[in-house]
Amino acid sequence: MSSDSELRDLYQEVILDHNKRPRNYRVMEDANHRADGHNPLCGDRVTVFVRLAGDRIEDVSFQGSGCAISKASASLMTDSVKGQSLGDVDTLFQGFQTMVTSPPDMDVETGSLGKLAVFAGVREFPSRVKCASLAWHALRAALKDSAKASAIVSTE
Ligand code: ZN
Repeated sequence: MSSDSELRDLYQEVILDHNKRPRNYRVMEDANHRADGHNPLCGDRVTVFVRLAGDRIEDVSFQGSGCAISKASASLMTDSVKGQSLGDVDTLFQGFQTMVTSPPDMDVETGSLGKLAVFAGVREFPSRVKCASLAWHALRAALKDSAKASAIVSTE
């Protein structure tokens, strides 16, 4: 087995694990920001809840239904952004977006993305890019909105 396919298997394992046991999967009663995301191409739905304290994400959670990639992506996203400042979240989002939308044969820098690098493989499946980025778009919409005026984002 080449190291390339070993790496791919490892990535797949992480995604399957987060799909089966999603982290931070709950409704947050005291969220001060939230948004709903919908990916009509695949049927994925996600609601992202955020408790923002100053410019730091004190707590973040999600609920929803969808394919393994959308759920694992939301799970890994919540793990990655918890405790981060809005500036750091923005940097992570830009890095993630660049990684999943760049051509498969292009080298992308994933070192700063930590575990999020497991989604580098979706570049080879353009229809799954929206599954992987749905939770991120919902998070961005949530941060711009309050919990009372919940935003709805669609990847279409
Ligand atoms: Zn999907």
